[in-house]
Amino acid sequence: MTIFQNARFFTTVNHLKDLPPTRAEIAFVGRSNAGKSSAINTLCNRTRLAFVSKTPGRTQHINFFDLGQERYLVDLPGYGYAEVPEAVRAHWVELLGQYLQSRTSLIGLLLIMDSRRPLRDLDWKMIEFFRETKRPVHILLSKADKLSRQEQQKVLASVKKELHDYPQISIQLFSSSKKTGTAEVEQQVQDWFAA
Ligand code: GDP
Repeated sequence: MTIFQNARFFTTVNHLKDLPPTRAEIAFVGRSNAGKSSAINTLCNRTRLAFVSKTPGRTQHINFFDLGQERYLVDLPGYGYAEVPEAVRAHWVELLGQYLQSRTSLIGLLLIMDSRRPLRDLDWKMIEFFRETKRPVHILLSKADKLSRQEQQKVLASVKKELHDYPQISIQLFSSSKKTGTAEVEQQVQDWFAA
């Protein structure tokens, strides 16, 4: 039984005042299309758990999943959509920014980046922005199955090198298709919840 195994949809939030009180939560964030929903579904061993977060109208919202034992998984809206109306984008930046900076029960951030195009501008912005909270970030270099073994090791080493000055950030390879890297994520999340 893994920490994600009993995940259940809990609630959708569109305004900070509606955030549920929780004791401990971890959040998933990443560029749209980076593989965040797939990662959540793979880790929770479900096919459509994160589907709810993709329902039109909910994509810009914060979705909570109950992991049991007063622990929560939070699915944050993907960033980098090309065609988002300015008003929606502004609301998103406000909601996400305030959530990340003020949420005291947030114990760690899982940042999903496509292993073929890691550390893009908005990823750096996210990293720099969240750095101020001094909380840990664990990066999943997703869709690793699209790379050869050699390319995987190369990208892992190069991202580690680029983030050398960020001791609160850890990095791993991940593939939802091949289910590789799941144990490593689980261990990281267990450690955060146990700390
Ligand atoms: P999100 O927008 O970040 O939630 O991304 P999705 O999880 O919806 O994935 C975006 C696209 O990438 C979809 O077409 C997925 O099928 C594909 N994808 C996600 N994870 C993987 C993976 O591990 N391997 C491969 N080959 N494709 C993936």
